[in-house]
Amino acid sequence: MSQITIASLQGRIEAVRESVEFAADHVGRSASDVTIVAVSKTVDRETMQAAYDLGLRHFGENRVQDARRKLAEPMPVDCTMHLIGQLQTNKANYAVDLFQVIESVDRPSLAEELEKQAARRGIRLPVLVQVNVAGEEQKAGCAPEDIDPLVNQIIWSEHLDLRGLMTIAPLVDDAEDVRPVFRRLRELRDRLQSDSGLELPVLSMGMTNDFPVAIEEGATHVRIGRAIFG
Ligand SMILES: *Cc1c(COP(=O)(O)O)cnc(C)c1O
Repeated sequence: MSQITIASLQGRIEAVRESVEFAADHVGRSASDVTIVAVSKTVDRETMQAAYDLGLRHFGENRVQDARRKLAEPMPVDCTMHLIGQLQTNKANYAVDLFQVIESVDRPSLAEELEKQAARRGIRLPVLVQVNVAGEEQKAGCAPEDIDPLVNQIIWSEHLDLRGLMTIAPLVDDAEDVRPVFRRLRELRDRLQSDSGLELPVLSMGMTNDFPVAIEEGATHVRIGRAIFG
């Protein structure tokens, strides 16, 4: 394990768990309603295994190529792998084999290809729609004003299981500044839920810098890289 020792990894995971609990407590939520997705994009397979051995079961990777290389030795079957980075349509084929959740569905052509790949395998693939809430130009994600047709398309895709929404907040010094971004994602989810009559339970929002605020605003999944892996 190159980057980090087991003891320090254990301490970091414990600290993150405590922060999750504290933030959930603060707003009367249960920490068990918040899933920690360990973003392992900067570490090797061995370090992922160590994190697994310390109790983590959800891992996030942002590049299909890296995941292919690392998962040449697959993670244990009770792991859930989340794709959290931009997905090129021509890599959807690999992505569907490597990941159990695709969090970064942001356009109709990608949803269409994922539907095709999932159908071919006879599975129903859990997906999230990534939303560019803050409208940052360089960031991936569907614009809030474009989301309805995309959501409808996914709902009508037999082999896609729309679970909810994901967003990446802008990088700021004070996490309080991005509270409105998280709140808007939750409101958008609430609106889509009542329009469609479907349950969209997942809100994947919050990273190392801002996850306590995201939990206060309703995050069910926080994607934590640096706080766990350094
Ligand atoms: C890298 C990454 C994270 C984790 O970021 P940290 O600041 O290291 O916690 C979360 N979400 C996405 C989409 C990422 O690319």
